[in-house]
Amino acid sequence: MEQKLDISVVVPLYNEVESLPELIAWIDRVMLDNQLSYETILIDDGSNDGSWTVIEQLQANYPTLRGIRFARNYGKSAALYCGFDAAQGEVVITMDADLQDSPDEIPELRRMIIEDGYDLVSGWKKKRYDPIGKRWPSKFFNWTARRASGIRLHDFNCGLKAYRRKVIKSIEVYGEMHRFIPILARKAGFRHIGEKVVEHHARKYGHSKFGLERMLKGYLDLITVLFMSYFGRSPMYFFGGLGTLMFLFGGGTTIWIIATKIWKQLHEMPLRPVTEQPLFYLAILAIVLGVQLFLAGFLGELINRNSTDRNKYLIDKKL
Ligand code: UDP
Ligand code: MG
Repeated sequence: MEQKLDISVVVPLYNEVESLPELIAWIDRVMLDNQLSYETILIDDGSNDGSWTVIEQLQANYPTLRGIRFARNYGKSAALYCGFDAAQGEVVITMDADLQDSPDEIPELRRMIIEDGYDLVSGWKKKRYDPIGKRWPSKFFNWTARRASGIRLHDFNCGLKAYRRKVIKSIEVYGEMHRFIPILARKAGFRHIGEKVVEHHARKYGHSKFGLERMLKGYLDLITVLFMSYFGRSPMYFFGGLGTLMFLFGGGTTIWIIATKIWKQLHEMPLRPVTEQPLFYLAILAIVLGVQLFLAGFLGELINRNSTDRNKYLIDKKL
């Protein structure tokens, strides 16, 4: 018979060999102290520093430890995706492997899910021990994400988060979307999203795995996520809407150009050839773009028809 687990701790890691023993011992201590049944799922995202060997050794001492090893480095989102797939606990905790997040937060995060009824609780590194070149861009990023998504979180990308199991089983983290899990969760229909101030530590070993390009990627992904959440199910509303506007503008302008030409001819007023009027070229451009946008909309709808999550609905209750 399958045993019910209180908690799954999902930890993506890439070259974090020094931190692992400390991290696993710490998690185990917290769980024992709080009498929680748990599993830890370590996802080795293609490390080449011997992390996997250490995981194998640790497994001998900690039978609650499970490991998944990628053949190469796929990125944090991929690691989380596979971790979520494997997780069996009632509450799922994600945390980074670099000891910047503290396992001591786990019991309270769990309590907020179980007792306060949150679907997702995100950590907030209020006092943060990262270089300033990372803190300021991150503030700006969070501000944009907050304004654009309407979810009032201070720290979207905090590695330490807790989820009701249903949440992680209904969202798909891909690309670099781990930064936007709260938005994905909300889009999937989970409304109770909370926040807890968590302790943060400076990196003890190794170095950050994300460079400056994270900013650019973060913004592009934010645009994708927002587009998907507003128009993901009906791309035609977006492309068709824009296309109609373009087409109307182009068509209207063309009629206007022809009408003035005829009118001037009838009244024998001086007139310029149509091809010498800038408006004529604008009108052509708008018509062509309008048609193209429409086509993009149709293509979007065709792709939608074949997509697997076309009919994914979150059912709250059944009688
Ligand atoms: N990580 C990963 N795959 C990657 C990059 C990072 O699994 O390609 C893990 C990393 O080992 C760590 C977590 O994601 O456990 C957060 O990474 P990091 O600490 O470098 O990010 P930062 O704290 O600088 O935001
Ligand atoms: Mg870190």
